[in-house]
Amino acid sequence: MHKFKLKNTIGREELAIANKIIKSGKLSGFKAEWPNGFYGGKYVKKFEDYLKKFYGVKYAITVNSWTSGLIAIMGSLDIEPGDEVIVSPWTMSATAMCILHFNAIPIFADISKEDYCLDPISVKKNMTKKTKAIITVDIFGGPSKVEEIKKVIKNNKIKIISDSAQSPYAIYKKKIVGTNSDIGGFSLNVHKHINTGEGGIIVTNNKSLANRCMLIRNHAETVIANMSIKKINNLIGYNFRMCELEAGIGLEQYKKLKKILFNRNRYIKKLVEKLENLNGLILPKINNILDHNFYILPIQIDDTKVNISRKKIWNELKKMGLVGIVEGYQNIHLLKIFKKRIAYGSRGFPLNISWQKYKKGICPVAEKLHDKTFLTLELCLFDINLKDINFIENCFKNVWLKLKI
Ligand SMILES: *Cc1c(COP(=O)(O)O)cnc(C)c1O
Repeated sequence: MHKFKLKNTIGREELAIANKIIKSGKLSGFKAEWPNGFYGGKYVKKFEDYLKKFYGVKYAITVNSWTSGLIAIMGSLDIEPGDEVIVSPWTMSATAMCILHFNAIPIFADISKEDYCLDPISVKKNMTKKTKAIITVDIFGGPSKVEEIKKVIKNNKIKIISDSAQSPYAIYKKKIVGTNSDIGGFSLNVHKHINTGEGGIIVTNNKSLANRCMLIRNHAETVIANMSIKKINNLIGYNFRMCELEAGIGLEQYKKLKKILFNRNRYIKKLVEKLENLNGLILPKINNILDHNFYILPIQIDDTKVNISRKKIWNELKKMGLVGIVEGYQNIHLLKIFKKRIAYGSRGFPLNISWQKYKKGICPVAEKLHDKTFLTLELCLFDINLKDINFIENCFKNVWLKLKI
């Protein structure tokens, strides 16, 4: 039986810095006051300085999770209750939930079957006078079409937000994803490529959005008088502050990130090249090694060429001992919260005013992929090596032979 090695990116360097921080006794430097302590402790500032350079942005803001980051970003926009935010149904639920926190309405646009990210044409179709922002998700480690979305919406008042949680360093048209929109960010939770246990990063070049995110991160209402903040809408603050330990560990993790991605991608690129030779399998196109970060390997069965059900193929792959292979993904627009329109309280607030019918049929591409043709290989769980790649290739080859595909 083939054994995959579970990944662990935490090593000596992280242990050393954690030791130092613990010995200092200062596990957080944040205070909900201005000016001292408002921007956090020594390691939070150090980590943010590092991230600014790493991503080539004016502002990098750490938070205690990327979910918190998304909520802060929503508040940083001038959202009014009832405004609409277009979002992808193929994402982790937090991407859609952050919209509800400011009583705005998530409107789902469909995805493209080529990259599983928002389809610019569907975005355009779902725009109304109330559209305030669009959240694109660089899902599975691959880039979304930010430039194309900008082009079709033809409205620079509508802000574009990148949820790049799964793509810490994917290059698209010479830009790092997450930095190619108005504001974006990354997750540092334990499942991602690198992690601090829990944590998130917001990146932007927009001063006003950055300042508002930092206010929401740290109990805005307590400092707006001393800071002479005039625009106070949506500045009901939270505690989204990162601890010194996470910041220190994050610093070490980021020093390793490129190496981790290059090492993994070398193998995964090989795997993709091998699997492409099988009849009826559609895989991401990779020209350069960082085109995709492969949080998971998205695989599509081309049903114009293969007439055996996904379930059967999946079952056979499982029987071969292939772990981490999953049927379909998820369709956030079909969660009960939307279907029943129950969010705050029990009477439909605020989803009752949505024109969108949260039911099957509104995102046909996403739905068909989930129901019939999409398979994921959860590569991010493992420390992948050449033997693993050969094993995965053999599993697919043998199943293709057995089922005469
Ligand atoms: C992980 C993830 C999030 C949430 O990030 P947390 O740091 O766990 O809060 C949001 N969106 C996507 C696409 C994710 O993969």
